[in-house]
Amino acid sequence: MKEFEIAFKIGRPIPEEDLRAAAARALGVKPEKVGRTVIVKRSIDARQDPLYRYRVQAFREGEQYVPYTVAPYQDVHDATPVIVIGAGPAGMFAALKLLQRGLKPIILERGKDVERRKADMARLSTEGILNPDSNYCYGEGGAGAFSDGKLYTRSSKRGDIREVLHQLVAFGASEDILIDAHPHIGTDRLPEIVKNIRRCIEEHGGEYHFDSRVTDIVPGFTVFCGEKEYKASNVILATGHSARDIYEIFEAKGWALEAKGFALGVRVEHPQWMINQIRYHGKYQPEMPTAEYSFVQQVEDRGVFSFCMCPGGILVPSSTEDGTVVLNGMSNAARNSKWANAGVVVQIEPGDQPQEYSGPFALMDYQRDIERAMYNWCREHGAKHPFTAPAQRMKDFCRGIVSKDLPKTSYHPGTLSAPLHELLPEHVSMRLRRALPQVDRQMKGFYTNDALLLGTESRTSSPVRLPRNPETLEHVDVPGLYPCGEGAGYAGGIVSSALDGINCAEKI
Ligand SMILES: Cc1cc2nc3c(=O)[nH]c(=O)nc-3n(C[C@H](O)[C@H](O)[C@H](O)COP(=O)(O)OP(=O)(O)OC[C@H]3O[C@@H](n4cnc5c(N)ncnc54)[C@H](O)[C@@H]3O)c2cc1C
Repeated sequence: MKEFEIAFKIGRPIPEEDLRAAAARALGVKPEKVGRTVIVKRSIDARQDPLYRYRVQAFREGEQYVPYTVAPYQDVHDATPVIVIGAGPAGMFAALKLLQRGLKPIILERGKDVERRKADMARLSTEGILNPDSNYCYGEGGAGAFSDGKLYTRSSKRGDIREVLHQLVAFGASEDILIDAHPHIGTDRLPEIVKNIRRCIEEHGGEYHFDSRVTDIVPGFTVFCGEKEYKASNVILATGHSARDIYEIFEAKGWALEAKGFALGVRVEHPQWMINQIRYHGKYQPEMPTAEYSFVQQVEDRGVFSFCMCPGGILVPSSTEDGTVVLNGMSNAARNSKWANAGVVVQIEPGDQPQEYSGPFALMDYQRDIERAMYNWCREHGAKHPFTAPAQRMKDFCRGIVSKDLPKTSYHPGTLSAPLHELLPEHVSMRLRRALPQVDRQMKGFYTNDALLLGTESRTSSPVRLPRNPETLEHVDVPGLYPCGEGAGYAGGIVSSALDGINCAEKI
């Protein structure tokens, strides 16, 4: 087998003869002696005329090709139970791994199943009624179910990403995710995949319990959801970065937790056509993938970076508590809305917060107070929808001017012109004001008053860590309890959380 690279125009079928001829050249044989070609990577090269660049494996005639296979799931109806708290990516992939290893996952999820959850999210967007157990972060599929479904991660050290991607394909995702450099699924496709994962887990003997918010964990283990209790010798705790009540249980029991850095800033929304123009250097054609961007800057010792960019997406209210304004973004598979949004955030380290915030909840409390300040400002200035976002045009923000008017936005609850530059803490605001004009050097046209900044992008990762034994992955104070995924502070994003779930299940 030999690997080679080849590029073809975007939007046209791959010319099979050219592919075979290139494979023959790579193998040093005649084209008729090429057995098979397998595309293993596809990325966009937009430096000149936009192209797809492919990495291809070429096999000689008769040479064995072994495709990746997912380990079979076992029947676990009568097997040893393991409690998995949270049905987000970490919990679901932990449960699948338990099935593969012959253990019975009992999944306890505070929210509803992925279908019933949709009605709560619609009510939140339109009427401003927040269900604290069923929203954009909580419910089957976790925070990843109604998202862009981006599947890339920088953390290849955490485990075998192929295992996650191949399972997602087996549960209904497009095979494109196996080769795309920046794979994504889309919020219109994710719920079906999440349901297929549930069907598989239940058919093999695992259990799901929805509307089951965990209220206490007694070592041994008895896990309480109000009056109801579940027993197992091992518990995987995969409750995500917003489950502040879980951290409070740890604090009440005297189990170790520590403040952890996160990132804080705004969501930035541009018209998507602008980003297409910028990224494809004016050569965008509708058959080309909707353009993405990412950047990192350093301002006074802190990273300022784009986060969770949603091309052709919309902004959504992702608060989990009343009285706070938190935004995130999501896109359909086709990424075909008129807008491009991304978090633009500043890295916050323990110690960056004002002195009045201390202890393990220092950054969590700081995060919450900023989310509340955004909410309070909008309420005090006449906002009707409780999740109205304070907003400012990009150049106005950097110049410290309240915008006279605001451009249209995809954010359904609406916006109110606000001094975001003052509502954000000065150390965050100052870094954003300095970084945003700089981004224009890489992406000419990015720094524009047609772009809107909205507060708050604050749930970038967990502001608390539940420390684990690095060997066993158990909590340092509670043997048998596996803090897992984003909420434990050891992952960020769908794939890295899924990998962490797999790793915790493997340890059990
Ligand atoms: C709108 C949005 C868009 C996003 N887009 C992307 C993206 O495109 N790509 C990407 O990689 N990441 C994205 N993210 C982030 C990503 O979703 C998370 O990093 C990931 O879901 C974390 O996985 P997790 O399983 O650790 O936690 P979560 O997904 O947060 O799941 C935790 C689960 O635990 C449940 N839970 C919490 N407390 C309790 C309790 N007390 N009892 C029982 N259950 C409980 C919750 O209801 C939830 O279902 C997005 C997030 C949001 C909100």
